[in-house]
Order: sequence, then structure tokens, then C-alpha cells
Amino acid sequence: MENAQKCPVCGVSIVNDKVFFSSGSTGTLARLQARVCQFAKQPGCINTDEDKIGEVTAVDGYLKP
Ligand SMILES: [Zn+2]
Repeated sequence: MENAQKCPVCGVSIVNDKVFFSSGSTGTLARLQARVCQFAKQPGCINTDEDKIGEVTAVDGYLKP
């Protein structure tokens, strides 16, 4: 696939800003951030561009404490 990137930290593939989770489901960068990247917090995570991630909503599985 063209433009495919794989986050070495989270282990998910990102194609044209669409996230392919290892479970087989797809989602947005915001959802990836909410469910994986914010917990991983490792250097090398490619999903750290807030402009691309946009707003993370409750639907994405993340509620601010
Ligand atoms: Zn990541």
C-alpha cells in the first residue's frame, strides 16, 4: 500500500491518516491516540502530530479525568 506507515511503538499501520488496528478494525488517528499512543508514550511513536490527530472525543474512548 502506498503511503503506509507503521508505528514501531504501537504496532499499527496508518494509511492516508486511517488507522488499521491489529485487531482488524479501522479508526482515526484520534482513536489511535486515545487507545494506544497515549499509553505507550515511547519515543518513535509516529502518531504525535496534534494537527493531524485533531480533537479526541469520548467516542474515541478517552475522557479527561
Ligand atoms: Zn504510536
